[in-house]
Amino acid sequence: GVRHEPTNKIVLDLERLYDEASEELAYVARYARAIQQQRGDYNGRVLSIRADDLRALAIVYDSSPSGLIERLNEHGVLVADPRAFFAS
Ligand code: C2E
Ligand code: C2E
Ligand code: C2E
Repeated sequence: GVRHEPTNKIVLDLERLYDEASEELAYVARYARAIQQQRGDYNGRVLSIRADDLRALAIVYDSSPSGLIERLNEHGVLVADPRAFFAS
């Protein structure tokens, strides 16, 4: 059958992101809320975001896309594998 490669999709754990008290992720949280609104995607526990939007956000953080990914990982707000996430 088809071999499922792990995707490089950027998937945010919304509960973690919105609960995160630190000021540091405030812009990411605001951006995610705006995307949810634009998509009408209100009930998800996770949100897949565009690579383009990550690039734009990285600029806001005076960082590179990979630097921002690292920071998001440190805060535990990235979901590596959404399917495994829902299975757990
Ligand atoms: P749009 O960019 O013209 O996209 C229209 C529709 O095409 C989207 O409706 C969605 O159904 C589909 N679409 C576009 N790009 C993708 C993609 O990479 N993956 C998937 N699965 N579908 C895609 P939707 O979701 O209701 O979004 C409506 C509009 O809201 C979009 O129009 C866009 O202007 C904005 N939007 C939604 N999500 C994002 C986002 O993550 N980033 C940005 N920059 N804009 C977004
Ligand atoms: P996946 O990308 O690994 O996503 C697994 C599950 O994570 C999805 O199950 C959904 O419950 C959740 N999820 C991921 N991104 C988002 C998001 O931006 N918003 C919300 N509300 N939930 C999200 P689901 O919906 O049953 O989809 C199963 C699989 O079907 C997905 O696995 C993906 O491979 C495919 N799929 C679903 N929707 C799209 C789509 O719009 N575009 C593409 N290319 N594939 C899709
Ligand atoms: P995905 O739906 O699996 O799409 C994977 C990639 O295919 C996208 O990566 C984008 O490069 C391309 N793609 C898919 N649909 C379209 C389209 O309608 N127009 C264009 N120009 N490109 C398309 P990208 O942009 O990094 O997005 C990553 C994931 O974020 C998408 O995975 C999807 O889950 C989510 N996403 C992005 N934009 C939208 C959107 O407008 N609406 C919704 N519902 N989901 C989106």
